[in-house]
Amino acid sequence: MNVQFMDLNRIHNPIRGEINEALTKVIDKNSYILGEEVSNFEANFARYCGVKYGAGVSNGTDALELALRAFGIGEGDEVITAPNSFIATASAISSSGATPVFIDVNSRDANIDPNKIEKKINEKTKAIIPVHLYGNPARINSILKIAKKYNLKLIEDACQAHGALYNQKRIGSFGDAAAFSFYPGKNLGAFGDGGIVISDNKEFIDEIKMLRNYGQSRKYHHDFFAFNKRLDGLQAAVLNVKLPYLDKWNEQRREVAKEYVKNLQDIIETPKIPPESTPVFHLYVIRAKSEVQRNKLTNFLSEKNIQTGMHYPVPIHLQKAYFELGIKEGSYPISEDICKRGLSLPIFPGMNKEEVNYVCDNIKKFHQNAI
Ligand SMILES: *Cc1c(COP(=O)(O)O)cnc(C)c1O
Repeated sequence: MNVQFMDLNRIHNPIRGEINEALTKVIDKNSYILGEEVSNFEANFARYCGVKYGAGVSNGTDALELALRAFGIGEGDEVITAPNSFIATASAISSSGATPVFIDVNSRDANIDPNKIEKKINEKTKAIIPVHLYGNPARINSILKIAKKYNLKLIEDACQAHGALYNQKRIGSFGDAAAFSFYPGKNLGAFGDGGIVISDNKEFIDEIKMLRNYGQSRKYHHDFFAFNKRLDGLQAAVLNVKLPYLDKWNEQRREVAKEYVKNLQDIIETPKIPPESTPVFHLYVIRAKSEVQRNKLTNFLSEKNIQTGMHYPVPIHLQKAYFELGIKEGSYPISEDICKRGLSLPIFPGMNKEEVNYVCDNIKKFHQNAI
């Protein structure tokens, strides 16, 4: 057997007809940049999240950057986030001109530890960007309380958490704004790059719409210098077709996760999900005993034709790109530990029971051999 890390064909094949029809409509109308498909999707996705407004943009990184800019955050400001994330969370902060300030995660859920946030807040701090990593919600109510107390903007990095719930409320509806990515491999993916900023604040969303489109108020009237960071009509058409399936696909991911816990919890560290969270398992990250064991297990599974991933092998503060921040190894021990021991197992909608069992059986086999 051969188990892929992620098989997009399983998602797309059953809805090929619908997608082709939607794409053809856009081509017939020549509505490639922004346009009706994009505004429909903005409304549909915002409603899905329980939020009033959305602005489709070029990708998730730009969604974060434009959200910061629309809140007036930039040079000289500090933005709090987690070092155990995809680089984009921090690079969006840097692109806005602000400086990322990292807070270690808690070991239980690999998300920012609310108890460590307050001691890093100073007069330069303007926002907190918690990441709902792996599609598992951060402790967003505690973070929200801190943001309110210090009058900071809360921008959710929901790029891995489309459809996740916390206390039965959609992720993306807690903060002042939320950013989503529609990179093809995300739980809701386009056929290329795409992203959205959502918020209940109309003025803020209008500002994002100007920022993404050259600061244009009327055609060829530009009120300030801005960017070309728009969502394409073809991408929005794909997303409009896929959105109604998102809950079903997330449920399928949760089913796979259930099998993994059942089979693996006694032999390896499996994700711990608190009762208030309904995660969407963008990734299913187990933790081996040590880095050496993780790498051995990776190789063992690869020999059995099981594709795995590492999310992420190097925490952001130790990336070469952030060398200038001068943060030493050991500064964020929990994040560093997760990067060393974490191993992402295959998980995707349409993954069948035989595949899940094959993965579990081989992890069991590895541990029997290792003893
Ligand atoms: C994917 C991702 C992003 C960036 O999204 P892009 O669309 O690739 O720019 C940001 N943050 C997190 C946590 C992500 O997983």
